[in-house]
Amino acid sequence: MVPVIGVLALQGDVREHLAALSACGARGVAVRRVSELDTVDGLVLPGGESTTMSRLLETFELLEPVRERIAGGMPAYGSCAGMILLARQVLDGRPDQRQLGGLDVVVRRNAFGRQVDSFETDLAITGITGEPVRAVFIRAPWVEETGPQVEVLARAAGHPVAVRQGPVLATSFHPELTGDGRVHALFCDMVRSPAAAA
Ligand code: GLN
Repeated sequence: MVPVIGVLALQGDVREHLAALSACGARGVAVRRVSELDTVDGLVLPGGESTTMSRLLETFELLEPVRERIAGGMPAYGSCAGMILLARQVLDGRPDQRQLGGLDVVVRRNAFGRQVDSFETDLAITGITGEPVRAVFIRAPWVEETGPQVEVLARAAGHPVAVRQGPVLATSFHPELTGDGRVHALFCDMVRSPAAAA
């Protein structure tokens, strides 16, 4: 069965995620309304700006529906701003910024600081075989605290930058920008067989 995987399409690098999802054999659909959310087996929360996405989730009346789907076990993958949205708590966020939850972590927004706003590095990621993954960080968060159910898959500068909690995956970096489809392939596998992949 071809899984249907949504990409939250309110803001951010939606097209790149849709392309990466088709490359791993899923049908990618842009999600802007609840009727579209209802059709998907999993959801990608793209990079962009978490404060803006939080505001738009409320405007489009998607905050609660997405929260409920994630709480109900729908697989979700957040990259960068998406990781921030999935986190239980955000440090250096805006006070009115809302969370989708799903990931029992505390993240620090824009954690790598001004001098290194953007950088690239090679990362070994648990669950991904072969060459290290080229990771592109753009005003990226890192994880400062992880709950007991959270598995750390990769670290940079001593901090977790790829984590997983059951059906929820998050990376501080942007695999959709490099043409290396292995992180999306991991997420597609999680959507295809959530129980087996957990
Ligand atoms: N700094 C952004 C935020 O706070 C995330 C940047 C990104 O997604 N590339 O949402």
